[in-house]
Amino acid sequence: MESLVPITGGCFCGSVTYQVNGLLRNAKSCHCSDCRKAFNAQASAAAFVEHQEFEWRTGSEHLTTYVGSHGYGVQFCKICGSTLCTVYKDRVLQLTLGCVNGEPDIGTLQHIFVGSKAHWEVMPEGISQFDEWPLEGG
Ligand SMILES: [Zn+2]
Ligand SMILES: [Zn+2]
Repeated sequence: MESLVPITGGCFCGSVTYQVNGLLRNAKSCHCSDCRKAFNAQASAAAFVEHQEFEWRTGSEHLTTYVGSHGYGVQFCKICGSTLCTVYKDRVLQLTLGCVNGEPDIGTLQHIFVGSKAHWEVMPEGISQFDEWPLEGG
């Protein structure tokens, strides 16, 4: 039986918070050079959310959006710098897993674009990994 408690999350300083009235799906960690810069880390870690099931609870006036060359953007808290989500055409697309509260079930995290990871990153054994984007059903 699924938990009826909604998934919540927020930024490092606590100003911006959100709630998901549904599930997080298709969790991905992307190791490409764009994601390394956008997410200030060796990789991104984010899961897809249905935009109709997502709502900002507090502090959305503190969000700033940066849209990159492909039309995909990130939204971050301008007070503390936490990147909360990715956006596409002004809709929330994915939530960054680092800002999700607690330990909701997100399924298996797939590591993608491992073929272009930083040379200094060593991938652990036994994880779900792909050189690029995984093929449907693959
Ligand atoms: Zn913040
Ligand atoms: Zn990427």
